[in-house]
Amino acid sequence: MKVVITAGGKGTRIRSIAGEIPKAMIPVNGKPILEHQIALAKRYGFTDFLLLTGYLGNKIEDYFGNGSSWGVTIEYYQEKEPLGTAGAFAEVSDRLTSDFWVFYGDTVMDVDMVRMLDFHRVHHADATLFLHPNDHPFDSDLVEIAGDGRVSDFHPKPHEGYFRNLVNAALYIFSPSMLRHIPAGTKCDFGKEVFPQALALGTNLYGYVSAEYIKDMGTPDRYEKVCADVASGKVARLNSRNKRPAFFLDRDGVINREVDLLSSPEQMALLPGAAEAISRLNCAGYLAIAVTNQPVIARNLCSLHDLQHIHNKMETLLGEAHAYLDAIYFCPHHPDGGYPEERPEYKIACSCRKPKPGMLLQAAREWNIDMSASYMIGDRPADVQAGEAAQVKKSIMITSNTANALLEAVNTLLQ
Ligand SMILES: [Zn+2]
Repeated sequence: MKVVITAGGKGTRIRSIAGEIPKAMIPVNGKPILEHQIALAKRYGFTDFLLLTGYLGNKIEDYFGNGSSWGVTIEYYQEKEPLGTAGAFAEVSDRLTSDFWVFYGDTVMDVDMVRMLDFHRVHHADATLFLHPNDHPFDSDLVEIAGDGRVSDFHPKPHEGYFRNLVNAALYIFSPSMLRHIPAGTKCDFGKEVFPQALALGTNLYGYVSAEYIKDMGTPDRYEKVCADVASGKVARLNSRNKRPAFFLDRDGVINREVDLLSSPEQMALLPGAAEAISRLNCAGYLAIAVTNQPVIARNLCSLHDLQHIHNKMETLLGEAHAYLDAIYFCPHHPDGGYPEERPEYKIACSCRKPKPGMLLQAAREWNIDMSASYMIGDRPADVQAGEAAQVKKSIMITSNTANALLEAVNTLLQ
């Protein structure tokens, strides 16, 4: 399977660092960023590369040659003029006859490529896009997906309204069928043109959501941060093959102000300090995962669609404060029947409703969580019991609906 790397970027924004070299040749820990990418792919058995170069492309060819010094095969295509992130693919379509990877030559990443490829194959996707939350969704292009991961919409910036914090990280797997959405000889962009158009034509686009490290180094600030993250081992540590610690957080009364049977986005308001607490978890390398009982679904006071809107508002408010949740798990069930409007299919004794640990255990499987280094914070005994049943390191109760209660608890546990 080929790995196609777009390496035509000029890197104007970080020219102060790089001087006259192509962006993909900018050194990170003493090696060009492109060399890190080639090493990553090779680690997962992908050794066949096609580099799409442009500006000063000969410097890339001079360095890597045919790839034999790295034990890989490298071919090149040099753009005559810049064709955006996508345009050059039309020029090399005859070389792309089976599924292939797309890397951007200015991203630092460490991703379990086998896991992502499995996802792509299971879904028979035409394209799989790596998606993740970030700490500035308000000025990012956002992607909307359905429960099975199928992309349902794109929200390019600027956007208004409440959306899930899910950003295209610029790592893809394409089937050759995607190439027909790229016009020849025209400058075009995957995020702005190719994907929205492909989606409108009914193409199977899927979002692969992961908490692994992918960052571009667009500005000198970001560049310094990325280099520090490589040096500290953070980039490698976040690969999903490594277990990670998490904070499980109850929702109502802990993250947002609890109101009785919260069932509309207007009722969703963050508690003071909640975003700061979650941002601290993000920076400290913990997964931040909400686990919440939502019997409003079983009571039929709120549809799954409404609940998604409520969560979109919560994610939008957190994002405005540079904080993000890695995942939200909810239990829609309630064991006791007897309400006239209820939905009987949710009136069951499930294994996810806290104090049962089902949501935490599911999250542990899906995110490869090290429970022995993880915490649960809630405002009811059922939260504490769920954490204990899931065998987290510590499961604690804070005072409900109290400003800065979550922040103080997080600060104490992170000391
Ligand atoms: Zn349940």
